[in-house]
Amino acid sequence: MSASEVTTTARNYIAGRWTGTADGAVAVLRTPATGAVLGEAPASGAADVDAAVRAARDAWPRWRATPAPRRAEIFYRAAELLVRRKEELARLMTREMGKVLAETRGDVQEAIDMTYFVAGEGRRLHGYTTPSEMPRKTAYCVRQPLGVVGIITPWNFPMAIPSWKIVPALVCGNTVVFKPAPESPLSAAAFVSLLEEAGLPAGVLNLVCGGDEPGRALVEHPEVAMISFTGSTEVGLQVAARCAARGVRVSLEMGGKNAAIVLDDADLALVTDALTWSAFGTTGQRCTACSRIVATPAVRSELVERLADRARRLRVGDGLDAATEMGPLVSEAQRARVEHYVRVGRDEGARVVVGGGRLAPPGLEGGFYYAPTVLDDVRPGMRVAREEIFGPVVGVLEARTLDEAFEVVHGVRYGLSASIFTRDVNAAHRAAEELRTGIVYVNHGTTGAEVHLPFGGTRDTGNGHREGGLQVLDAFTEWKSVYIDYSGRLQRAQIDRD
Ligand code: NAD
Repeated sequence: MSASEVTTTARNYIAGRWTGTADGAVAVLRTPATGAVLGEAPASGAADVDAAVRAARDAWPRWRATPAPRRAEIFYRAAELLVRRKEELARLMTREMGKVLAETRGDVQEAIDMTYFVAGEGRRLHGYTTPSEMPRKTAYCVRQPLGVVGIITPWNFPMAIPSWKIVPALVCGNTVVFKPAPESPLSAAAFVSLLEEAGLPAGVLNLVCGGDEPGRALVEHPEVAMISFTGSTEVGLQVAARCAARGVRVSLEMGGKNAAIVLDDADLALVTDALTWSAFGTTGQRCTACSRIVATPAVRSELVERLADRARRLRVGDGLDAATEMGPLVSEAQRARVEHYVRVGRDEGARVVVGGGRLAPPGLEGGFYYAPTVLDDVRPGMRVAREEIFGPVVGVLEARTLDEAFEVVHGVRYGLSASIFTRDVNAAHRAAEELRTGIVYVNHGTTGAEVHLPFGGTRDTGNGHREGGLQVLDAFTEWKSVYIDYSGRLQRAQIDRD
């Protein structure tokens, strides 16, 4: 690659300085729309992670001592900068990871929403006061930061997911080492640069680009007090095992295999709109993507026809083109994974109704395109019904009753989101009550979280933590109980009762 081919370069950000790696290693980035070289980013190793962790450790005492409302002021400024730069950031993100502009604008908007929402917490961070069992003694509890937090993120929401983690971690008084996915370092660096511009002091937030090597080094670094991870279940469980061995907290947001139930009385026009969006939006590369549709026999074939018709007509191409409705997959590797799963599905007996192959839109032959794909005749035991595909592929299954539909939905290891389409209030409330996922939608697809509600999943999607909502504060703080005895004498809890 000649220097002139490099259009955009990401750098690490350590102790307030933009820098390359200790050994000069870089990785080449390609734009998914054409496969052309887009730029390069540091391919960091353990030495870079160590430098970043030391910077975060050194910055912590001062940051922790900065009053939370003052810390939060920086994030109000950051949110304003995000609003101003929204279009520029969205375009960079589309070039880097491929999703269409409407969605990358949404990604930046989510970062804006999250940043404003959590900045507000700087003036709350509520603890509580409570009576003591002793006279002339008072008791209260407060949240306190953990120390250096390691943040590891995927590429499918290159700004939204880092914002869900970085902003609350910092408002709560931690310092951060951020290791983004190797597919999206440019968006990560743009976000960090914006926070620097908003006034974050040196060392409070550090960026180390690269793949699994710096990820591992971060997880294993003895001075990292907590890991917040979003990515695949396979990697997340390895990260959890390492954190358990060190006895440090880990918050995990992992894979999904989300399902929508469609009952006899559903409005099929609405279902088609909603599930086209949930299955093929972000080219199916959302943790909440609708990957399974569980329909009753009365609606199944008509729904399959409607969805196939929409999938056939979706305009697939470069996400920067305003006419495009679905962009490419993020990489050739991701396209190969989707191809593999469709082959597995065919071998298992699923019927490819539409799609099922690569696409090469004119002028974009080097890009990583795959046709929106609907599989019918999918049965619960099939791998395509159980494993996360993370591409534009949706499988249709059948269930005769609501109870049978619940059973199908629950027949996977994941528990992120589920939805139901019905006009029957009883069925809707039963679904809200009985679906064992972290998120349930009624008359909506499986995607579309809002930042002020808890986000996360059950079973192998997570480990009980939640992002978003006020619940995110629990991930990034621990409680301190304070007792103040102003009686002037020894008062022993549980013992001195007179
Ligand atoms: P991934 O698991 O391959 O990588 C995630 C991150 O972990 C990347 O930064 C990667 O470099 C890093 N990593 C890889 N190996 C590591 C190791 N051994 N130790 C430490 N870090 C390591 O996932 P991906 O392909 O980037 O993202 C897609 C996955 O993310 C899907 O499974 C999707 O469902 C999941 N996801 C989940 C949520 C959620 O909130 N539940 C949101 C978005 C994406």
